[in-house]
Amino acid sequence: MASPHVLVIPYPAQGHVIPAMELTQRLVKQEVKVTFINTEVNHKLVTSNWLEKDSIGDLMQMVSIPDGLEPWEDRSDIGNLTLSIMRTMSGKLEELIEKINKEDSNKVTCVIADVCMGWAVRVAKNMGIRRAVFCPASVTTLASILSFHKLIDDGIINKSGVPITDQIIQLSETMPPIKPENLGWAGFPDVATVEATFQMVIEGEEASKMTEWIICNSATELESAAFNLYPKLLPIGPLLASNRLANQTGHFWKEDSTCLAWLDQQPPSSVIYIAFGSFTIFNQTQFQELALGLELSNRPFLWVVRPGMTKETTAAYPDGFIERVSSRGRIVSWAPQQKVLAHPSVACFTSHCGWNSTLEGVTNGLPFLCWPYFADQFHNETYICDIWKTGLGFNKNDAGIITREEIKSKIEHLLSEKTFRDKALDIKDKITYSINKGGCSHRNLNNFIEWIKEKETDVTDQPDSM
Ligand code: UDP
Repeated sequence: MASPHVLVIPYPAQGHVIPAMELTQRLVKQEVKVTFINTEVNHKLVTSNWLEKDSIGDLMQMVSIPDGLEPWEDRSDIGNLTLSIMRTMSGKLEELIEKINKEDSNKVTCVIADVCMGWAVRVAKNMGIRRAVFCPASVTTLASILSFHKLIDDGIINKSGVPITDQIIQLSETMPPIKPENLGWAGFPDVATVEATFQMVIEGEEASKMTEWIICNSATELESAAFNLYPKLLPIGPLLASNRLANQTGHFWKEDSTCLAWLDQQPPSSVIYIAFGSFTIFNQTQFQELALGLELSNRPFLWVVRPGMTKETTAAYPDGFIERVSSRGRIVSWAPQQKVLAHPSVACFTSHCGWNSTLEGVTNGLPFLCWPYFADQFHNETYICDIWKTGLGFNKNDAGIITREEIKSKIEHLLSEKTFRDKALDIKDKITYSINKGGCSHRNLNNFIEWIKEKETDVTDQPDSM
């Protein structure tokens, strides 16, 4: 008998591919066949950095379709990449589905598209295939996407998505305030990129009306006000490989797992873990100041310095820094982050507050030092510092730099006040309840998988509006 066959399509960025891979693993574990679609460039990265890809099994296959850019074109130009994706990938997806349906005894029964790949939902609808939207970002971010018409009507953004006022956004009475420049699509320095990214927002909002399932990598306990504002959004997270004691997959860089043995040698709750995700770029002055702040803290640290993290080709450490900190500092280019955060030696997480990193830190009951880089990372910082009260932010000096003294002082403040850790452990307990049997995220994910497995009825059972 034919099994359900799902296509999973993430937006081609690290913070989207990792949670989509984890969703895929959960589907496969419940006997759902999945074809995971990366862009060609990311397909090469993910498959070459996947340590255990031999263990994929028959129920999962990895395929790629082109993103429409030439091999030499800059994929960190988000505006150009987004427009190219919207221009070219829908035709390629249609061809892929037709090919699978011709060659595979398990025809495609459902498409799960990242909210940033809304066009894929339209393709599924036009081909009469069931569909769902997956949001790997916070529900607060998704709520702002779904509210974009209101933001235009209220004169906060123009019709191209560009903020036209400084007026603070209050999506509901209980939701945290959002600055217009921190809207997920508005944090880019140039208007062209904001406008291009806003096209993706429009597609995402339309896609949300074309499905009854909008599943979110979050938990009610984390963002209850945002879930109350849009009850159609269903929490199924945090979806983390570490929660099922498995390895995180979908990495664009090769992870250096030797740091786990190094962590084994450090005292419990002693290490500062510092990582800024896949996208953050530092200027040289700030990079050196961070290094000197870690040195000044006089504590063990594990620091991820990703290739390309500074504008210079290779990160330049302060003179003699590496030698001076060698007995208590470890620097890696990419860490097995979920395992690191679950390690008992880690005391706190200095993070750019990307949503995945935020989820991974809170799930492990860790206090945060927040160093947001752009866009929605600032509202994630608001949750950490003002709502969950599990962390502290940094202040910049008049030159816009977070100084070494500020870094040392915030590390000491965070680690000397037990209340940050206590609150973090309290949230960890709530999340653990939610993702385990009987909890809300667990139930929603199971219901969703049951729906995928249902014998397909008339696809017109899917709504056209929220
Ligand atoms: N990550 C990792 N190793 C590292 C740094 C990051 O595995 O050394 C993973 C991290 O666990 C998270 C993802 O990369 O799942 C980054 O996503 P996030 O949303 O935090 O930030 P983004 O990269 O989108 O800015």
